[in-house]
Amino acid sequence: MTKYDVLVIGGGASGLVAAVMAARQGASVAVAEKLPRVGKKILATGNGRCNITNKNISPSRYFGDKSFAKSAFAKFGLDDTVKFFDSIGIMLTELDDGKMYPRSLQATTVLDQLREELKRLGVEVICDFDAVLIKKKDNKFYIKSRIGDELYASRVIVSCGGKAAPEFGTDGGAYELLKSLGHTVVKPFPALVQLKTQYVPKDLKGIKQNCTAQLLIDGKQKRRETGEVLFTAYGISGPPIFNLSRMASESLEQKRDTCVSLDFAPDIGYLKLKEIIDSRFKKLSHLSKENFLNGLLNKRIGLEILRHAETSEQIASLIKNYKLTVTGTLGFKNAQVTAGGISALELKENTMESKKVSGLYITGEIINIDGDCGGFNLQWAWTSGALAGIAAGGGN
Ligand SMILES: Cc1cc2nc3c(=O)[nH]c(=O)nc-3n(C[C@H](O)[C@H](O)[C@H](O)COP(=O)(O)OP(=O)(O)OC[C@H]3O[C@@H](n4cnc5c(N)ncnc54)[C@H](O)[C@@H]3O)c2cc1C
Repeated sequence: MTKYDVLVIGGGASGLVAAVMAARQGASVAVAEKLPRVGKKILATGNGRCNITNKNISPSRYFGDKSFAKSAFAKFGLDDTVKFFDSIGIMLTELDDGKMYPRSLQATTVLDQLREELKRLGVEVICDFDAVLIKKKDNKFYIKSRIGDELYASRVIVSCGGKAAPEFGTDGGAYELLKSLGHTVVKPFPALVQLKTQYVPKDLKGIKQNCTAQLLIDGKQKRRETGEVLFTAYGISGPPIFNLSRMASESLEQKRDTCVSLDFAPDIGYLKLKEIIDSRFKKLSHLSKENFLNGLLNKRIGLEILRHAETSEQIASLIKNYKLTVTGTLGFKNAQVTAGGISALELKENTMESKKVSGLYITGEIINIDGDCGGFNLQWAWTSGALAGIAAGGGN
């Protein structure tokens, strides 16, 4: 039975970087992946372009055990990430809102170059290995797969992801592996996910509208995001909604009153807007209802507003505060990220080593740390993977 210095369980973003870093320290390394191939989720990131990171990495864009993330970024941050990707031939380019991508704008680039580096370093990749048991005995780890295959390693890095997007191999089963080793799981819930609303403006389905979205919990404003909101058959989606969804999801879990208020004219104040509508009533009263707000707003949004408002006060108010009650999310199946997970307080800062079991390291989304939409989650995967790989491989 082959025994490795380091076995990485889970060949996703953090696991592949952990394997590269461990092998660069001179360790013998293998990656055991549940699916028939590694890195399937990487290919789906950033709509196939892979939003690798963000120029504006800061702890304020993270949730859960975020002070842990802060110290990890101090040890392996944005510059280290850029250098790492440069070392495997990937140059980055910055697009909107600080989002950074491979210059090729192809997620395949990221997986191709990581796999080339694994090959160069002699890392063994074992696919179709669904780890169901990790045991430590006599200073070595024994790992068993669902079909009874066995592996041994001096050190193990668990990089199995969370519960979001199970089609990419992440169904949350790995929490049990770590619970059996004494770790605690903060209840997972979906984040970066579409929101279902009580009232669905059916005629707006398919419209993407630039607006400001505010999350209200029990009537209090909690977070505000500006960007393109997408109206769907179940409710709302789009980058601003994704960024509100973590808090909304948590609030729904706590059965609190959760609403999103959309401002369709964030660049115009209420009084000015009312003035504009008053003047339209005077000068453009010949216009049909369908076209009355056309030109000021998207035509279909204008008509939707006029279905629920008549006077200039009501119209201006509704344009500035179009409120939708949130009834749910599209769940883990559709979420991009998992909030909650293994408590980071049970890990050593800067190395990702377990405080409960020496030689066990944990990386990525399986930990109770998640970030905003825009490259923040992959950055956490690269950072935690690199730190664990360097430490498990024998570096500092
Ligand atoms: C559609 C989509 C788009 C996204 N786009 C972006 C983006 O552009 N930018 C960004 O920052 N974030 C994005 N994310 C989030 C980001 O991809 C994840 O946060 C990140 O991949 C997490 O890395 P990880 O290594 O923790 O886990 P993952 O990348 O999820 O990898 C975990 C791996 O472990 C394997 N595994 C699980 N259990 C076992 C087991 N028991 N035994 C063996 N193997 C196992 C899985 O098959 C999987 O390959 C996106 C997510 C999705 C779903």
